[in-house]
Amino acid sequence: MVFKIGLLGLGTVGIGTAQILLDSSGRNPLLEEIVVSQIGVRSLEKTRPIKFPPGVITTDLVAIVTDPEINIVVELLGGLEPARTMILQAIDQGKHVVTANKAVIARHGDEIYEAANRAGVYVLLEASVGGGIPIIKPLKQSLGANRITSIIGIVNGTTNYILTQMTTAGADFSDALVEAQHLGYAEADSTADVDGLDAADKIAILASLGFGERVQRESVYCEGIRKVSTVDIAYADKLGFVIKLLAIAKISEKTESRILQLRVHPTLVPKSHPLASVEGVNNAILVEGDPLGQVMFYGPGAGSGPTASAVVSDIMNIVAILKSNNHTQTLNPLLSCTHQHYCQITPIEAIETRFYARFLTKDVPGVIGNLGRSFGNYQVSLESVVQIGFKEELAEIVVVTHYVCEGNFRTALDEVRTLETIKSIPSVLRVL
Ligand code: NAP
Repeated sequence: MVFKIGLLGLGTVGIGTAQILLDSSGRNPLLEEIVVSQIGVRSLEKTRPIKFPPGVITTDLVAIVTDPEINIVVELLGGLEPARTMILQAIDQGKHVVTANKAVIARHGDEIYEAANRAGVYVLLEASVGGGIPIIKPLKQSLGANRITSIIGIVNGTTNYILTQMTTAGADFSDALVEAQHLGYAEADSTADVDGLDAADKIAILASLGFGERVQRESVYCEGIRKVSTVDIAYADKLGFVIKLLAIAKISEKTESRILQLRVHPTLVPKSHPLASVEGVNNAILVEGDPLGQVMFYGPGAGSGPTASAVVSDIMNIVAILKSNNHTQTLNPLLSCTHQHYCQITPIEAIETRFYARFLTKDVPGVIGNLGRSFGNYQVSLESVVQIGFKEELAEIVVVTHYVCEGNFRTALDEVRTLETIKSIPSVLRVL
């Protein structure tokens, strides 16, 4: 049998995908039955590293998604449009879809999966989170017997590379960003990575799969790494932490209607924590469930080959179903997505977490006492208070709190700002 693929996009991931599909030797024999029939791109003028027969590459994406010969459309365009429209059109034509596009799934997943379920087709997305790391199928299938309680990940390689360079080489944020761009780890427009938006897309997808409910992308609290300074990285190191951009989804309250925390922010991670040692462009996702306990998925979170490995595994899954001839309108619930309800999210002010804060103060007696009193007024208890150094005749004081309600901590900070001895609060970070 031959299964025809319509590839939308022949960029970094598209090339990697075509390379695997064109060189099946030594890989799963299913690949021998898969043919790249049409490839959609923006420009026919570009030089491509792979030569295809005339007519295979086209700029007419609609012709691909409506071609009756094509069984599976693989969307590797990126961005929201025309990706969303092409996916919906392919579904409408009864085609299965494989995508690596977290942005489109995080924002339009409800519309896409409703359409796919109506049409009785699969939309698989292993490559959309963690690049080459298998995490979507494990969450849906291998861990399916567990009650998932938390998913915490380093899911953006660019920011992890920047923070690693700031930690190990003492580079400041802008130099580390330029280096990441130079090495091809960061886009010229790095906003989606640096401001945490990419990580927020990914945790929205993981939370939806892990907790079995729809997630509204805009309900993910999101802070990027622009304000992380080498000063804080050095203080964190002295206190036994490294700073990582974490994407966190966890059960906040086990009431009848489950309430989730969903957030992305730079976080002080204890050096002994498994995520602390994840360096460079690597990704890792720590999943906790009952009765499993903890399991960590680690590996290359991006790149042509690793991401293509995930894309092709999805194509093979669909081909295996088509080949076994048992594809009916009834979809396999372990591969499809049928969530109906939107999950409830804890507002950020109501979460309980630990904080790190750095203060520049007058170097006079009683400053620490005043700080402690203001925090005490709002039930914020301090785990440690350290006066580490001096900066231009001001004392630099760092505090780490016990678990506190974020709203109380913020109100306490408002009071601290009014203290005559406090000159500024250069940084406030959460602690895992
Ligand atoms: P890319 O290198 O920018 O390639 C995009 C491809 O899509 C190009 O071939 C481009 O055509 C084509 N394209 C874009 N807009 C188009 C349009 N309007 N009409 C026709 N063709 C269009 O992107 P990528 O890095 O491969 O990423 C693809 C997807 O994979 C994205 O959703 C991304 O988030 C996801 N992903 C990427 C990685 C990674 O490591 N790169 C990892 C995980 C997930 P031209 O070649 O003619 O410009």
